Amino acid sequence: MEKKKELYRGKAKSVYETDDPNRYIMYFRDDTSAFDGQKIEQLERKGKTNNRFNFFIMKKLEEAGIPVHVEELLNDRECVVKKLQMVPVECVVRNVSAGSICRRLGVAEGLDLNPPTFEFFLKNDELHDPMVNDSHIISFGWGTQEQIDEMRAMSLKINAVLKDLFDKAGLILVDYKLEFGLYEGKLILGDEFSPDGCRLWDKETRKKLDKDRFRQGLGGVIEAYEEVARRIGCPLD
Ligand code: ADP
Ligand code: UDP
Repeated sequence: MEKKKELYRGKAKSVYETDDPNRYIMYFRDDTSAFDGQKIEQLERKGKTNNRFNFFIMKKLEEAGIPVHVEELLNDRECVVKKLQMVPVECVVRNVSAGSICRRLGVAEGLDLNPPTFEFFLKNDELHDPMVNDSHIISFGWGTQEQIDEMRAMSLKINAVLKDLFDKAGLILVDYKLEFGLYEGKLILGDEFSPDGCRLWDKETRKKLDKDRFRQGLGGVIEAYEEVARRIGCPLD
């Protein structure tokens, strides 16, 4: 497959056109950002770690019956994905309270949420990704009721698969963000699943092993991502 021009350069990844009109190459850079791009640093090995982590998780989800965009791991930093028309919302599932839900609702960090919560946020850095609901998504034409129902159902099915996978590795899946897109009219899981877009705590010590280490300046960011990969059996080479 031939890589053509860079179509989009996001905060952490670049998307390239290819000679196949229905495929993109997704390139994982070492750039690490937080607070809607206000804090940016290059972290050595991050691109490679997240590319391989994402491939591993996407394959697990595919095996569980979730339609995913990732098709092939090309090398350390690149994978082939289906070209999606992205739905401009982020889907967030939470098993334990942390991050923005604590600030918004004044609740303590670490409360078990049963059943898990499900939230939509508009993907818009300038507006700091405001929370939106079903009626906003429909009225502004970002998605249909059917797509909303499917995104919610798939996000919760993914929770069942991943909670169990991380639990077996002694990790708590606290929360995570997903993005979906359309391919030939069908809703497919896009973007990435990596410690950049989720929270993972050690079950015994509650040590944070995700991007909160970067947000909070705790250090050992990539070492933590690598530890999670090792514990779930994800190869990094
Ligand atoms: P951001 O745009 O938030 O800065 P990234 O740096 O991760 O994020 O850039 C990747 C971009 O590619 C995101 O905007 C994401 O929505 C988009 N994307 C992910 N998967 C696909 C896909 N299969 N087809 C088209 N766009 C995609
Ligand atoms: N998240 C993300 N990208 C975003 C917003 C959130 O990957 O633009 C992830 C984040 O890493 C966490 C979950 O979604 O795992 C919930 O994030 P939250 O709403 O708590 O926001 P935060 O406080 O992390 O900005």
